[in-house]
Amino acid sequence: MPLSTAAYAVHSATTPLEPWSLDRREPGEKDVLIEIHYCGVCHTDIHFARNEWGFSEYPMVPGHEIVGRVVRVGGGVTKWKPGDSVGVGCMVDSCRACGPCKAGEEQYCDTGSTFTYNGREKDGSLTFGGYSTQIVVDQDFVVRIPDGLSLDAAAPLLCAGITTYSPLRHFGVKPGTRVGVVGLGGLGHMGVKFAKAMGAHTTVLSHSPSKEADARALGADDFIATKDDEAFKEHPARFDFLLNTVSAPHDLNAYVDKLTLDGRMVLVGLPDPTPLAAFPLILRRRSISGSLIGGIRETQEMLDFCAAHGIVCEIEVIPMQAINEAYERMLRSDVRYRFVIDMASLKA
Ligand code: NAP
Ligand code: ZN
Ligand code: ZN
Repeated sequence: MPLSTAAYAVHSATTPLEPWSLDRREPGEKDVLIEIHYCGVCHTDIHFARNEWGFSEYPMVPGHEIVGRVVRVGGGVTKWKPGDSVGVGCMVDSCRACGPCKAGEEQYCDTGSTFTYNGREKDGSLTFGGYSTQIVVDQDFVVRIPDGLSLDAAAPLLCAGITTYSPLRHFGVKPGTRVGVVGLGGLGHMGVKFAKAMGAHTTVLSHSPSKEADARALGADDFIATKDDEAFKEHPARFDFLLNTVSAPHDLNAYVDKLTLDGRMVLVGLPDPTPLAAFPLILRRRSISGSLIGGIRETQEMLDFCAAHGIVCEIEVIPMQAINEAYERMLRSDVRYRFVIDMASLKA
């Protein structure tokens, strides 16, 4: 019997999210049924809901920062039991046979991992995300929320957390690395917390001068306002590593210019393409990289790192019914620093 599930869905690129109902599959042998307590609101949800990347499918139930409790498990489930606090991030499946999958980097699966929403299950059916009251997921794509992390403030770790943790780790950020975090939003504020916890000298580069006090309270050693192009140009090239989390089109070259010899900028923000000049890269052997979320094993490592270091997200909890207004506020950079939906509002 399919499980009738309350949700919020978007039906076209130009219409708001509205109440909807969907059927989750009955948990199979290896499946876990999770009651969703909270779901974070990622800027990717907006890009997808509004078809900004051109491959959105409707109806769409966004949401890939999911936390809740296990309600029921299939007969072959060994990892989870009812009552466990668990999370689900941006993926719910992958081929599991290719090199990246075997290496625990399912996000780079050669055949493409199955996104939590706007993805296709192996049987071809469309996936629906966390703006809903329950979800059924294969046990291998579920992670444990460590004791001591509150569920609401942990929710955004499932995307904003892992997306910033993974490149900092992968590219070897360590004590003394001079890190700049570009954009202080959901991803950016987690980037600051992780870079500091890894011992880096951490600077926020933000186009919102009003965020300076917050940046420092989050642990940043320094703050650079980027809105005034002329003043920004004057800053010397002093970053070993820039983590660019900006969601809107902007001049990448202005940031490349702030990297030292052999410095690297990692793009995790996904705005429209912007032109990249060769000279500033060549003249100082600088690099530009991209990074996509993180694998399941690394997501668990990140959650355990958060528990060990007392790291959670700064959140504003909202009811499901406030989602459209929340999107508008995010587009105005008016969120400190992640909206998290309390799914009890949808059950009431
Ligand atoms: P967010 O909370 O809305 O934060 C984005 C930040 O970008 C804003 O807070 C703002 O920071 C800055 N910004 C916005 N407009 C700007 C502009 N016109 N010029 C300069 N800076 C601007 O978004 P998010 O959820 O952190 O997501 C950020 C981006 O990462 C999105 O594009 C999202 O799709 C992408 N993403 C990628 C991955 C991945 O795996 N690579 C995973 C998740 C999300 P300031 O006010 O400080 O300037
Ligand atoms: Zn996300
Ligand atoms: Zn694979």
